[in-house]
Amino acid sequence: MFLTITTTGTAENPATDLGFLLHKHPDRVRVENQSHGTAHVFYPEATAERCTAALLLEVDPVALVRRGQGKGRGGAPDAALAQYVNDRPYAASSLLAVALSGVFRTALKGQCALRPELPEQVRPLRIEIPVLPARGGAELVHRLFGPLGWDLVQAEAVPLDEQFPEWGDSRYVRLVLEGELRLADALRQLYVLLPVLDDSKHYWIAPDEVDKLLRAGDGWLAAHPENGLISSRYLARHKRLTQDAIERLELVRLAEADGSEVEEIDNAVDETRDTEERPVPLAVQRREAILAALRGAGAARVLDLGCGQGQLVQALFKDVSFTEIVGMDVSVRALNIAAKRLRLERMGERQSARVTLLQGSLAYTDKRLAGYDAAVLSEVIEHLDLERLPALEYAVFGSARPRTVLVTTPNVEYNVRWETLPAGHVRHGDHRFEWTREEFRAWAGQVAQRHGYEVAYVPIGDDDPEVGPPTQMAVFTQTETIGTTNTPKEGEAA
Ligand code: SAH
Repeated sequence: MFLTITTTGTAENPATDLGFLLHKHPDRVRVENQSHGTAHVFYPEATAERCTAALLLEVDPVALVRRGQGKGRGGAPDAALAQYVNDRPYAASSLLAVALSGVFRTALKGQCALRPELPEQVRPLRIEIPVLPARGGAELVHRLFGPLGWDLVQAEAVPLDEQFPEWGDSRYVRLVLEGELRLADALRQLYVLLPVLDDSKHYWIAPDEVDKLLRAGDGWLAAHPENGLISSRYLARHKRLTQDAIERLELVRLAEADGSEVEEIDNAVDETRDTEERPVPLAVQRREAILAALRGAGAARVLDLGCGQGQLVQALFKDVSFTEIVGMDVSVRALNIAAKRLRLERMGERQSARVTLLQGSLAYTDKRLAGYDAAVLSEVIEHLDLERLPALEYAVFGSARPRTVLVTTPNVEYNVRWETLPAGHVRHGDHRFEWTREEFRAWAGQVAQRHGYEVAYVPIGDDDPEVGPPTQMAVFTQTETIGTTNTPKEGEAA
């Protein structure tokens, strides 16, 4: 099986830089033994104007079978021959993806110690795979590579036998991709999409496969319209792992969409000479409004209920006036991402004592939440069904009863101002409802009254004279400190 990567260049920016990027010298042939066979890397052409690297993988079918048996794969008698005689040695299957990640490991990570600026370069690239198994055919190849920034995606069906055109096409295509991309991005796309197209993954699917998928998908998979199909096939249709991947990708997509991940970019903005101000992402504005309200209330011990990936927990942690921070979420996956973001395992004891991540649901009262200065519910209530809201209300305002409660939620009136949001749509598929300012105030007013709080409203983001701000925040402050005006309803006892 065979793959070529070609780039073009000039005397100042020579195409042979490809050798640095791939960590393989253009003048030499490299041979590497891999678990499934032997990988050869060589350069059929290498000039400043044009340079092509070729990866040829010789698969050892016997080694493949041995490895399969080692893992206890049985099979029908006629499957036995298929184990030896199959397309694996010839087609660019998932094995080629494994070889790619082995042979071009550093390139895939986008690293180049000698020339650190190179991996960031967007280069003209041409990738050709003469025989690519494509379950789903050329049409699926277009759906998969189409949204990924290539100028040309060509997938020609390979006939079963050129001598007998009436036999029709095989399930293989000849793939050509052309466009200007960073090499690492192109390689990471191939690493994921080759096995997806092959759709017969040859190795065991381990739980860390989801992590691998997310790492390789960094920067392109979360927003890909086919990310469900990609995850499912990549994970060999393993239901739970696929669900896991889809949920995590959704969190990534959300963070990307509302700019939670752009903090580094914000810093970069300060360094540009550009005087034009960049709009501050709404998620950042929300976080700042929340931090300001918490500081205003003099809160030191804070609950972040429905903390998601922990962006707010992290921001709270950076301010020492918050002495105790608890992030709670119903999603273990979100909490795992939050723990990684906070690098909890690398913190010293004193520092880590300030943060706790808890798994729990706001639909139930929870003794662990009692006795805090403040609770934040940032973009959480709209994720619960309306019928569950009274339970959330009781859990927070009746049982946990922090002195201050901040609740933010989208203002549906503002949706007409989002350029990309079709009329009548909510901002996110998982929103069970989105409220007008009036609806939010009606709910918050009643909650305050029932539980002995007073409530004020703070707009977050551009406060449009007609439709109001994109995000609305209610700031509840306790007026009655003892007991509650409400008794637990059935099934809600602590
Ligand atoms: N507060 C974060 C995340 C908002 S997304 C932010 O502002 O960015 C909504 C979060 O609420 C998700 O992480 C979801 O897992 C969580 N969630 C949904 N229902 C929940 C429930 N019943 N109990 C606790 N968390 C819940």
